[in-house]
Amino acid sequence: MPDSAQAQQKEESVLSELHKFLFDGLPVRGMIVRLTDAWQEILARRASNTATGAYAPPVAELLGEMTAAATLMQANIKFNGALILQIFGDGPVKVAVAEAKPDLSLRATAKVIGNLPADARLPEMVNENNKGRCAITLDPKDKLPGTTPYQGVVPLFDDEGEKLGKLSDVLQHYMLQSEQLDTTLVLAADDKVAAGLLIQRLPVKGEGNLEGQSGTSVRDHDQANQDQIGLNEDYNRISILASSLTRDELLTLDIETILRRLFWEEKLLRFEPQAGLLGPHFACTCGRDRVAQMIRGLGVEEAEEILAERGDIEVGCDFCGKQYRFDAVDAAQIFRPPGDQVPGSTVVQ
Ligand SMILES: [Zn+2]
Repeated sequence: MPDSAQAQQKEESVLSELHKFLFDGLPVRGMIVRLTDAWQEILARRASNTATGAYAPPVAELLGEMTAAATLMQANIKFNGALILQIFGDGPVKVAVAEAKPDLSLRATAKVIGNLPADARLPEMVNENNKGRCAITLDPKDKLPGTTPYQGVVPLFDDEGEKLGKLSDVLQHYMLQSEQLDTTLVLAADDKVAAGLLIQRLPVKGEGNLEGQSGTSVRDHDQANQDQIGLNEDYNRISILASSLTRDELLTLDIETILRRLFWEEKLLRFEPQAGLLGPHFACTCGRDRVAQMIRGLGVEEAEEILAERGDIEVGCDFCGKQYRFDAVDAAQIFRPPGDQVPGSTVVQ
């Protein structure tokens, strides 16, 4: 079978998957993710949202790259909670969010105001005036009341203040800063596939990665480890190989072919791939009780105003498109003082 026909067949049949590997005997690890059904689900839900319509291609590409990156970053840490990758833009894309949980459930959304050129790149979308920011948040699953999740924020420009053209540059910069580890990222997305390759140097001593910063104290960085940045020959060689992967290859080739083409001279130790039920998949954690909480936050006056104007309060989830509707009776229930709830008639599903 010719390569292209094979690739096409793969594209139709393969579920989203994540593969992790080590370079045998070398201080380098890698992982590759290919989101197909999970990514198409995110796009399809947006396309069926009559209020917004489908994403413009450049926005879909950015959000797909963010979703692939969030999956890789989540899989790269041992952390029981959501990894949320956000871009706060100063251009037409006001905010873009991709969230990945430890079970590799994913969701993503973007808010776009105004038009953008069909060939818009990162700066035109989110960094027109160099004021765009990228935030990485680790939100623990079982957090104690009052705990603030760890958040790291990086600008969308380099050390000289030049606007960065690619999301992978932004995130490589972030990971070098936060983990003190060289990281190479290759990301790509279109309307069918969102994919990414991550190569990272292993710390010189012990475990060093994001999880160490999820608490309140800043981790002490190993001096020997910092001294290695940019200087490890094995990492540098593998990083150059990884960087030679083109957008087209990442989007159209299956994972086995990609790894063989890039690293045929290296000895890889492969882990069991995560696919199917244990692989990356779309899931949204919104719910009626959370929306009720949000309405409570609005206050009774504003809620009554909306009810008087429209008859009910309707809230849609930006991630999955689900609509939540509260009529006057539901709303009254939300604002009923605690302890005065009518049994069996709570707004919680
Ligand atoms: Zn939802």
